Amino acid sequence: APALVWLRNDLRLADNPALEAARASGRPLILLYVLEVADEIRPLGGAARWWLGRSLAGLSHDIAALGGTLVLRSGDARRVLPDIAAETGAGAIYWNRRYGAAEIATDTALKLTLREKGLETASFNAALLHEPWTVRTQKNEPYKVFTPFFRAAHTMHVRAPARLGSGWTWARAPNSERLVDWRLEPRAPDWAGGLRDAWIPGEAGARAALEQFLAQRLSGYASRRDRPDIEGTSRLSPYLRFGNISPHQILGAVRHREARGDARGADIAKFVSEIYWREFSYHLLFHNPNLADQNFNPRFDRFEWRNDDAVERAWQKGRTGFPIIDAGMRQLWQTGWMHNRVRMITASFLIKHGLTDWRRGEAWFWDTLVDADPASNAASWQWVAGSGADAAPYFRIFNPVLQGEKFDPDGAYVRHFVPEIAKLPANVIHKPWRATADVLHRADVVLGETYPNPVLDLDTSRRRALEHLDRLRDE
Ligand code: FAD
Repeated sequence: APALVWLRNDLRLADNPALEAARASGRPLILLYVLEVADEIRPLGGAARWWLGRSLAGLSHDIAALGGTLVLRSGDARRVLPDIAAETGAGAIYWNRRYGAAEIATDTALKLTLREKGLETASFNAALLHEPWTVRTQKNEPYKVFTPFFRAAHTMHVRAPARLGSGWTWARAPNSERLVDWRLEPRAPDWAGGLRDAWIPGEAGARAALEQFLAQRLSGYASRRDRPDIEGTSRLSPYLRFGNISPHQILGAVRHREARGDARGADIAKFVSEIYWREFSYHLLFHNPNLADQNFNPRFDRFEWRNDDAVERAWQKGRTGFPIIDAGMRQLWQTGWMHNRVRMITASFLIKHGLTDWRRGEAWFWDTLVDADPASNAASWQWVAGSGADAAPYFRIFNPVLQGEKFDPDGAYVRHFVPEIAKLPANVIHKPWRATADVLHRADVVLGETYPNPVLDLDTSRRRALEHLDRLRDE
């Protein structure tokens, strides 16, 4: 009887424990992806759907090259899986675990149903270096603060990544839905041109991105990672999100470089700690299932958000009149990704200067990021809001002008994404409203026409935010 491998956030063939176990069982294989439609499961945003579509196309191709077929079905997994098991006479089902509450409930229910029908089921860890229940404080509790979590976790054993095996035996594949019919990629309007230019989703793209990062950017990562005007980071986040690559493969490759002595310890340490921020986010999500919609710190439940629609719309469109904010929001819209430093600046601006509920920003990022991640997105928004575990201090309010001047000193990042002010000189590129009429004229900028006036006053809104937050602290 065949073994069914249900692929989810592990869209790769190499280092895939569920797939390895199915192969090791000696049963002929059926590989399945289910586009889940169920009330409990948060639907993917637009950019993530695009990534999923491209990843599945790549995976189908890779599986076909090995002589197999990727079977596609849509619907509620709790029905689709038993149906397909019955159709194919499968004897075993394998999958890799996921960590959101609704997903865990689905998988647990399915395991029971399938076992009752006499099928063998087994689940594995493919996505995390350390599953959330394995890292505990000395009091046997989950961690709430990153640094002690990291200290505890990063000395624990991590398995070595597995290579792609050879010799594949396939079962006869059942009927499949057609990927094009899922409409994961937009057609009219086709807004994905910028995404196509920026990314090659899928397993081969992930491998190439990792190789390029290790060869060109790991050296210097610690000092360059905060600069949005430089390609200083790995851009591996969407590949990790969909499991086109595993953290084990990344860590394995980094350790290999380290052993060869061709990268500085400080760069490696910084990069590895970022990988552990993702681990920590999953730790938080698993132990706090409502991370994306409930304040981790319940004090914030009383916070009076202003939720000014005009500010929020200007923010979404990249038309706030603050160049670093607008550049970030346009990078997000055009490429489905935003540099981490700018994610922090734009989130802080919306929440603190705009007094907008962090959940609204989280939802916008969820829809527009190719790496939109149930754990990292929610944890990061709460971190910036100050409502999260191990949050940024509440009084930290990024000044978008100073942040721009510090991290995009020549304005190259702004010039790229906000071309209508590209001719402004560096000393005013982050604050066009301070430029003289003459300078504006020479740069062909007409404030309020070719580029917006600031949507709010920085000083007043900063004071307002601090007053609100002070009240929260004193209550
Ligand atoms: P690199 O610097 O190369 O880091 C390597 C990997 O480490 C990343 O791919 C990512 O998996 C992980 N990582 C790095 N920083 C963080 C972090 N702060 N938290 C968690 N993991 C991290 N990351 C997402 O993957 N998905 C999201 O939806 C997401 N939303 C965010 C929202 C906000 C408001 C903020 C401030 C940050 C968010 N991040 C999110 C974290 C971070 O910005 C991205 O992981 C990073 O920018 C991805 O680029 P990179 O792969 O080049 O990162």
